[in-house]
Amino acid sequence: MLHTFFIFSFLFFMNFSLHGVSSNLQQNPILSKGPSLPNYGTKDFANSIPYLRPPMLNQKATIIVDPGHGGHDVGTQSVTKPRYQEKSLNLVTSRYLRDYLQYLGYTVILTRDEDIFVSLDQRASFANAQKPDVFVSIHYNSAPSAEAEGVEVFFYLSKDNKIRSQKSKKLALAVLNHVIAESSAKSRGVKHGNYAVIRETNMPAILLEGGFVTNAEEMQRLKDPNYLKMLAWGIAQGIDDFLKKKKK
Ligand SMILES: [Zn+2]
Repeated sequence: MLHTFFIFSFLFFMNFSLHGVSSNLQQNPILSKGPSLPNYGTKDFANSIPYLRPPMLNQKATIIVDPGHGGHDVGTQSVTKPRYQEKSLNLVTSRYLRDYLQYLGYTVILTRDEDIFVSLDQRASFANAQKPDVFVSIHYNSAPSAEAEGVEVFFYLSKDNKIRSQKSKKLALAVLNHVIAESSAKSRGVKHGNYAVIRETNMPAILLEGGFVTNAEEMQRLKDPNYLKMLAWGIAQGIDDFLKKKKK
């Protein structure tokens, strides 16, 4: 059954890449400026192809998007049933982010595009080998307190590479500002975090925690694909801002 589904999805993608050139861009009423995107894994996905303009701009920058966890490593999960697993929220958000960044003209590489385990070392060394301009890792949060809520963005504070740390912090601030503006989520700020994927990479790198699956109200929002799109569109605009300022 699963197999058939994958073959079907593959054929669908093939069809999209062959015939998806004409654009039928519909404005999503929830998003202020972002292009309309499908909800992955739903009927909406099948009905909304073609959904993006072909990339017209070549921004000449590459972005690595890293959906946290995967495979046996589910990450955190919601308290109430049905349980939403972090690894899936990460992947769905990362795919939206990829599509939005491609829409803005960037080259995007995912560290995983399916439900598989990839070690932290593999993610970092893969990213370093690709020599991207930006690395962004996507996660969701949990806490013992059901009150904990909001979005936070981490960068790695390195004594050895201060320039990279400064750039990563600028990237984190730009991304957080846009995410909050787009989603109206509570801001928990930009923080220093000693996480392997942002420590072991050698380009500007951030890790975003998009919300708490242990907070009932926030989890309610995270179940809505449109909300994940708002987060993704905010992240994409933040990256775009950062890369454009870098050029000046
Ligand atoms: Zn995580």
